[in-house]
Amino acid sequence: MGAFVIMKMKMYPSYLNLSKKEFKKRIEKSFKLLENCRLCPRECGVERLRGELGFCGLKELPMISAYHPHFGEEKVLVGQFGSGTIFFTSCNLSCVFCQNYEISQLRIGKEVSFEELAKIMIELQEKGCHNINLVTPTPQVPQILKSLFLAREMGLKIPLVYNTNSYDSLETLKLLDGIIDIYMPDAKYSDNEIAKKYSKAPHYFEIMKKAIKEMYRQVGDLKIQKGIAIRGLLVRHLVLPNNLAGSPKIFEFLSREISENTFLNIMNQYHPYYKASEYPGLARKISKEEFEGAVVLAKNFNLKRLYF
Ligand code: SF4
Repeated sequence: MGAFVIMKMKMYPSYLNLSKKEFKKRIEKSFKLLENCRLCPRECGVERLRGELGFCGLKELPMISAYHPHFGEEKVLVGQFGSGTIFFTSCNLSCVFCQNYEISQLRIGKEVSFEELAKIMIELQEKGCHNINLVTPTPQVPQILKSLFLAREMGLKIPLVYNTNSYDSLETLKLLDGIIDIYMPDAKYSDNEIAKKYSKAPHYFEIMKKAIKEMYRQVGDLKIQKGIAIRGLLVRHLVLPNNLAGSPKIFEFLSREISENTFLNIMNQYHPYYKASEYPGLARKISKEEFEGAVVLAKNFNLKRLYF
């Protein structure tokens, strides 16, 4: 007699498929990382659950600065109703040219409860947003997971965008496997000394490369349906004056070690915000030639899905 095979249909977004047991395990593991904090590559070793502060200055509760449907992101995230963006307070980098320095470095924001953060996600979904766009999520992954668990119970069913500077640890990223559908990492620098000088980010290039490889392993190339990104990797690269971002090595890495089909946003909006004018190399906008040169280079590396 033939046996019936019951095929379980995969739901979308991915986090809907995670069993409660597995979800709780991930939350537990992530909070464990806050004891002697090693949530991100800085590995500050502070007891965040007891209120000790590391580089990011964050404790146990989520801390946010703003949230709203955002229409300034990439078209594939924005669609008709916007990307449901949550700006998390603080950052594990310290870029001298940060355009959001009030949020990232002055840390203007407020602590909210896990329930409040869950309700914010639901509110953005009710406004019609196509996704929940988590800006600078790295130092708050446990808080996000705990709130997402609650939001799922409340009916959240839109995908998450992990919008990161790529200073992420593999241990933390692995906890997000099967939860995040769209990874949006920055590829900021290919020179570690420059990364250290302008963003206080030792070993940035190696850390970024490992992180992006792991993200790609989880979600692959970006898939777009009816003009909206549904799953995959979307890389951002901000061109800096005087080639300080080291664009050629970034493009080479993406093309050879990730995929020639990487969806890559080459950004031209560098402006000497915050303390940038104190650094001669960063004290001006980029020229048309610098930007066009970067685009030509990316094409020469055979990167096929350029967005600018
Ligand atoms: S999350 Fe914050 S405290 Fe923890 S290692 Fe990173 S910067 Fe340090």
